[in-house]
Formats: sequence, C-alpha cells, structure tokens
Amino acid sequence: MLIMASSPAVLIRLVASAYSIAQKAGMIVRSVMAGGDLGIVEKTSSVDLQTKADRLVQMSICSSLAQKFPKLTIIGEEDLPVQEVDQELIEDGQWEEILKKPCPTQYSAIKEEDLVVWVDPLDGTKEYTEGLLDNVTVLIGIAYEGRAIAGVINQPYYNYQAGADAVLGRTIWGILGLGAFGFQLNEVPDGKHIITTTRSHSSKLVNDCISAMNPDNVLRVGGAGNKIIQLIEGKASAYVFASPGCKKWDTCAPEVILCAVGGKLTDIHGNALQYHKEVKHMNSAGVLATLRNHDYYASRVPETVKKALVP
Ligand code: AMP
Ligand code: MG
Ligand code: MG
Repeated sequence: MLIMASSPAVLIRLVASAYSIAQKAGMIVRSVMAGGDLGIVEKTSSVDLQTKADRLVQMSICSSLAQKFPKLTIIGEEDLPVQEVDQELIEDGQWEEILKKPCPTQYSAIKEEDLVVWVDPLDGTKEYTEGLLDNVTVLIGIAYEGRAIAGVINQPYYNYQAGADAVLGRTIWGILGLGAFGFQLNEVPDGKHIITTTRSHSSKLVNDCISAMNPDNVLRVGGAGNKIIQLIEGKASAYVFASPGCKKWDTCAPEVILCAVGGKLTDIHGNALQYHKEVKHMNSAGVLATLRNHDYYASRVPETVKKALVP
C-alpha cells in the first residue's frame, strides 16, 4: 500500500514561497541599482519616493504570490497600473527548509482565503536613493484574524561592506509559535537605553518623545525593517517613532520577527496594531517596538505626544 505524506499546511507553504520570492526581490533591488537608472518618482512629497526597484519588486512579489495562492488578499504599497507582468519577474520556488517545519497547531487549519499579505517591496527607498544600502529591506507580512502571524524580511545588501568573501544579502523569516530564523539574536546590555528612529521623516514630536525617554544614545537610520533588525541583533533597545507616516506594510513582517523572539510592537499608546484587510493603511498613532522592557518606554511617552497622535 502506498502511504502519501500529507502536504504541508497552507501557512507553511505560503511562507516557503514568500522566502523564495523575497530572495528574488533582493536580486531585483540589486540589479536595478547596478543598472544605474533608478527611475525616481516623488509620491506625496520629496521624502516619499518610488523607484523602478519598488515598482518591479512589487509586481514580482504580488504576481508570484497570486499565481500560486489565488485566494489570498494581497495589499502592496505601490499604486501601479494593471498590466501584464513579465514572466521573468515570476518566482515559483519554495524554500525546502521551511516546508519541513511543523505548522503551529493554532494555524494548521487556516485557509488561503483567510490570510492577508502586506507587501513593502522596498522599505527605506529614500536611503536606497542615497546609497545607504544596508538600510534597505523587502517586507512580506502575513496576517490572520487581524494579527501579524508570519513574515519574511530580505536585506539585499547585508554584508555589502564586509569584503569580497562575504555572502551578499540575507533572508530572515518567522512564524509566531515557531520562532524566527536567519540571524543571531543579541540584546543591548541591561540598563542601557539605545533608541533607534527615523533619519528622513523626523519632526519636533518625534524628537520630544525620544528626549522624554532619556536615552543613552539615539541612532537615526532608514527603514522600519532595518530598525527591527537592530532590535533583534542587540544594536538598539527601542524603535520609537511618534509620528504618522509608517504604514501596515512597514510593520507587519517586522512585528512578527520581533514578537517571535519575545519582543513587542505597538502604537505609541501601547495598543496592538490591526492587520485585517479593511484596516486603515496608516499607523496614525506611531510605532513603539522593543525586544525587552516595552513598559519602560511606553510609560515615558509624554501626554502631549499621546494627545497629538490619535489612532
Ligand atoms: P523611516 O524610519 O523614516 O525610514 O520610515 C519607516 C517607513 O515609514 C518607511 O517606509 C517610510 O517611507 C515610511 N514613512 C515614515 N514617515 C513617512 C512620511 N512622513 N511620509 C512617507 N512615508 C513615511
Ligand atoms: Mg516602507
Ligand atoms: Mg516601500
């Protein structure tokens, strides 16, 4: 008698696909830069940009996912005209190592149509255009019942200054209840308060909030994905952004990676973010993310800042 092994759960298959798709996305990001013509377009302002890489990568990710998982809801950052997608942009692979992982039981019966995928094809576009290449990430976040439950982050230029022998680029992935993989977890020494925040979308409110937290050091870098990587690698203890501007596709995948290793991401009031398909895209009440001691930072947000940032 032939006994067939049961096929992996939908969530596992989706994450395995998202991993391979994110790797291809990283290659596209590098090849557009190498080509020299970034095709920069201003969206809402001079600090809200879109490049050819943002456009191509979104087409690649959304079409690749939709082809394999036609019942998913996929929400991408870029507003693009409906068009035929070049077959060269389609990635059909599934990362084998993920297919072998067990699905956490609470997610094993999830159906494709119950999942919402939030896609930021290129996070840190402003920094990409300025050559701050390791700030750039590709973010694929997966939500179920309004919560971020799985995510993939590709960092196309990881190691780009590490010499010719180093492998360029990496992919980090995670599922709540299973863990997060593809990096070495590290913590800032106990009692040290290092805050990471925006470098290109600052404001008085952003800076007032940080000052009230009395930090030992403030890092100003691009990208939501990049800042979450700083938290899990022990370079920063809190990501503080007391401003609207960050969207659901910026926080969905990073939130999962952080939470899968015991961290927490909320708005500036300490409230959880929602990721169901009808939710407002803007994280109007800002972002507060930590690996440890979330309460320490949440309790120091000034009332004036809270009043200015309504969810
Ligand atoms: P940053 O920390 O400035 O790199 O921002 C993290 C993410 O939020 C990036 O995707 C930014 O494009 C987005 N973001 C933050 N503030 C703004 C803003 N004022 N306008 C447009 N996008 C923003
Ligand atoms: Mg972004
Ligand atoms: Mg983006």
